[in-house]
Amino acid sequence: MAKKKDAVSPEEELKEQLFYNQKNGYDLIDAKELIKLEKYCEGYKSFLNESKTEREAVKNAIELAEKAGFVPYEPGMELVPGSKIYKNNRGKALMLAVIGKKSLAEGAVAAAAHVDAPRLDLKQLPLYEDGEMAYLKTHYYGGIKKYQWLCTPLELHGVASLKNGETVEIVIGKEKDDCKFVITDLLPHLAADQVKKPASEFVPGESLNILIGSVPYACEGKDRVKLAVMSILNERYGITEEDFLSAELEAVPAFDVCDVGLDRSLIGGYGHDDRVCAYAELKAILELKAPSRTAVCILADKEEIGSCGTSGMRSDAFECFMEDLCDSQGVKLRHCFEKSLCISADVTNAYDPNFPETCEKRNNAKINYGMGICKYTGSRGKSGSNDADAEIVGLVRRAFADNGVVWQMAELGKVDQGGGGTVALYMADRNISTIDAGVPVLSMHAPFELVSSFDCYMTYKGVLACYGI
Ligand code: MN
Ligand code: MN
Repeated sequence: MAKKKDAVSPEEELKEQLFYNQKNGYDLIDAKELIKLEKYCEGYKSFLNESKTEREAVKNAIELAEKAGFVPYEPGMELVPGSKIYKNNRGKALMLAVIGKKSLAEGAVAAAAHVDAPRLDLKQLPLYEDGEMAYLKTHYYGGIKKYQWLCTPLELHGVASLKNGETVEIVIGKEKDDCKFVITDLLPHLAADQVKKPASEFVPGESLNILIGSVPYACEGKDRVKLAVMSILNERYGITEEDFLSAELEAVPAFDVCDVGLDRSLIGGYGHDDRVCAYAELKAILELKAPSRTAVCILADKEEIGSCGTSGMRSDAFECFMEDLCDSQGVKLRHCFEKSLCISADVTNAYDPNFPETCEKRNNAKINYGMGICKYTGSRGKSGSNDADAEIVGLVRRAFADNGVVWQMAELGKVDQGGGGTVALYMADRNISTIDAGVPVLSMHAPFELVSSFDCYMTYKGVLACYGI
């Protein structure tokens, strides 16, 4: 509550006038907006629950987009202001656009998030038997703390491309009464040697083997448990061991999304990084009618392993899509890029009072303080960072102020603590003015990550405001 005017000293008034004064988001929104926030987060929670892999995220995003009137883009189709189109990139990445009233010569506004998340991928010959139990070999994907994946219930999601050309979808463990899988850990009684090792070494990558069965097939000879497991898989999916060779199977945490905290202010779940920003962008673009500038929403794959590959942000798939839009207006792609703006919508770390030594509190994002803007990311002297121009930060800041977006400055840990990157530099390499922005996360890259409902909602509002620039 504001103090009575006569109680304010001239010095306090001057402070009020001159100092940047951050406020907790809950002190800034009213009951009406709180209802919108809750509705938004309900939508997000069900999207996240149903999107455990990049493929599922793309599939669910397309479903929402089609409901909102988006159609698949076909080369040569007529595009007018308000046209809503999407391009599905191999089922693993997605680009959507709403054609604006202004020419693409004046640039587009893009928001780019990623829908892949750290996980354990099955190797191409994963199944083996040891100690009369059957296991699946894995190779982890993205930056994980390996010990967090032990004793954590897991599900398997993915596809297998069969000899006959058919692709089978494989999902095991998602349904409530379905079986789960797990990687076991050593009992503390026998862990004296294990716990002496540094955390980076005590779980070797090759020991991340998933237990998948223990009952032998009713026969004589070797590999009876493996045979029993393989015959269940064959019965359920029609696959043989050879089909693993051309499969992409991902072991992901078997957690449902849930509210965390007595006040239910936080959302716990797997894959907030970066589906929380992907959903924010998606919801924002689905709402647009005929924006001033063409709005583009990118849900990229492979960010966690360097944005490589055809479905990653470095892929020419983006040029391919944008060039067609530019060609339809007789605009050169390079001229469009030069005038465009990109919000690289990715999560940032939230200040964690349990680990205060890793952050510089003044500049780190805080839970419930809104969308986090990272002027720069990178590590060791901003290396590998798109350090956004002051003018771009200013532009975004004004759009946020005009649209009631609660936001804060963010950085990825204190100087020389570590760091990281996003797709921002690959967008900036294309001569597109780019800025990093997203939701602050606690326990990032853990099987169970946390975000605040408030920050999720503000990130959606933030992207929506940027689409209006
Ligand atoms: Mn990440
Ligand atoms: Mn990310």
